Amino acid sequence: MMIPFLNLKAPYFDLKREIDDAVDRVLRSGWYIGGPEVESFEVEYASYCNAKYAVGVANGLDALRLALQAMGVGPGDEVIVPSNTYIATWLAVSQCGAIPIAVEPIIGTYNIDPTLIEGAINSRTKVILPVHLYGQPADLDPILSIAKKYELYVLEDGAQAHGAKYKGRRIGAHGDAVAWSFYPGKNLGAMGDGGAITTNNLEIAKKIKMLGNYGSTHKYIHEVKGFNSRLDPLQAAILRTKLKYLDLWNDRRKNIAIQYLNGIKNPALILPVVPAWSDPVWHLFVVRHSSRNNFQDYLSGQGVSTLIHYPIPPHLQSAYLDLNNPRGRFPLAESMADEILSLPIDPYLTDAQIGTVIHLSSEGSITSNEAS
Ligand SMILES: *Cc1c(COP(=O)(O)O)cnc(C)c1O
Repeated sequence: MMIPFLNLKAPYFDLKREIDDAVDRVLRSGWYIGGPEVESFEVEYASYCNAKYAVGVANGLDALRLALQAMGVGPGDEVIVPSNTYIATWLAVSQCGAIPIAVEPIIGTYNIDPTLIEGAINSRTKVILPVHLYGQPADLDPILSIAKKYELYVLEDGAQAHGAKYKGRRIGAHGDAVAWSFYPGKNLGAMGDGGAITTNNLEIAKKIKMLGNYGSTHKYIHEVKGFNSRLDPLQAAILRTKLKYLDLWNDRRKNIAIQYLNGIKNPALILPVVPAWSDPVWHLFVVRHSSRNNFQDYLSGQGVSTLIHYPIPPHLQSAYLDLNNPRGRFPLAESMADEILSLPIDPYLTDAQIGTVIHLSSEGSITSNEAS
């Protein structure tokens, strides 16, 4: 039996009639940039996230960069980021001309360690940028109080956390803004690129909209040298359809996660930790194994597809050699990269497939030859 990591076609064939109707609606409307589908999605997504405003943009990286620019981040500034995130979080900072300052994670939740943030703050720091990695909220309250003390903005990277709750409230407006990606493989995915920012701050929302629309609020009047970064109406119409199913898909992911947490019995595997205040949406189910490559090869030989998120931390990428962060500077991010493995947690997996992953990941099924 082949167990895929993620089947992107499954939600399309599941909702084919509704998605085809949404696409047809846009094609017939003549609104191919902006217009009612984008505006309706912005209203519906803001409401889903318990935020006052949502602004659609072209992708998640742009959402991060435009939000940072709306917060005034520019050359010479510093932004605090996790050491173990996807490189987009760092690139957004670099694209503003600012410097990403990495802070190590808590091992267990894999989110930024709030107790290490103050040590990274100086007079150049402008923003703290926590990532809700793998769909689990970062510990926002201590981050928000540090930001208040030092008068910093908090921008959350929500690209993996659509629908996740921190202390009972959905991610969307705890900090000053949240950047979202609708890359197809995310919990809420478009059928192409897409992104958004949610915020309760009208000034930030307006500024992002202006920056993403050629620096213009009135046609042919340009206040700043802006960009072209807009959410496509076809994607907005598809996202409006899929948003109605997001909670259902997230519930299925949670159900699979509970089966994994309760069912996988293997002392060599370290399972993810969920604090009492956290309601994660399990974008990824990440385990750790000291012989990760052997464990991955073993599962692959049995037909189970797994991935590594991410094999090389940003500071060790060639792209970031200029920051001179040598190997050993962020040892937790480095050891994670060597040990982590993402098990399949696609909502369209069957219970039989989940049972197979549990069986194969459990101690009895792995001989010392196969995974040591
Ligand atoms: C996917 C992702 C992004 C970037 O989103 P794109 O839409 O691909 O630009 C940013 N941050 C994190 C943590 C992500 O997982």
